Amino acid sequence: MSIGFDGYRTFGTKTCPGTKLFTLSGNIGNPGVYEFPMGVTMRRLFEDVGAGCPNGKKLRGIQVGGSASGAFVTPDNLDVPLDIESCAAAGMSLGTGSLMFFDEDADVIELCRGCMAFFAEETCAKCTPCRYGNKRIADILSVILSGKGRMEDIEKLEKLSNYVSKNSLCGLGQAAPTPVLSALRNFRDDYVKACSSPGTASA
Ligand code: SF4
Repeated sequence: MSIGFDGYRTFGTKTCPGTKLFTLSGNIGNPGVYEFPMGVTMRRLFEDVGAGCPNGKKLRGIQVGGSASGAFVTPDNLDVPLDIESCAAAGMSLGTGSLMFFDEDADVIELCRGCMAFFAEETCAKCTPCRYGNKRIADILSVILSGKGRMEDIEKLEKLSNYVSKNSLCGLGQAAPTPVLSALRNFRDDYVKACSSPGTASA
């Protein structure tokens, strides 16, 4: 049955009417694609729909908006309504509606490295910041993961990621460093720990 334009607008929020497909993946009991009104909270999707993390594990964070270029945020954001404005105000983009949950055992630096390795492959190579920058960011993350990272690598990562984001020609390069920049904001202690004791590989 068609509900028409006006009926569709009764769902969601005033500024983001309608529904959206949300993809729940990662460490979650009921992964899948679910349609909900715009403005639903991550908590509702994580707890009621997704059934939380399997095996009683604690939620460590969520990658929001895309499985490669989404921002890594902490569970403090579970009550943020998933609409364009609320997400932007919380420092993330709703993007594709992808929500990748990761539990207490996840290695945030490895998750970031995986994202950057993806972009190092996917670059079309037209512009230099994206062509070389994403590969270089992935390499620095690999060094940190090998246990040879230094504190100055954190500063290098931050500078390079900002540079790639601001100077790449298209949306792919501009969004590619989002996982690293958001992880440096929200999970900085992981980087500090990995870089302050060289010789100890990240768990
Ligand atoms: S930013 Fe866009 S145009 Fe530049 S290399 Fe990357 S994919 Fe190509």
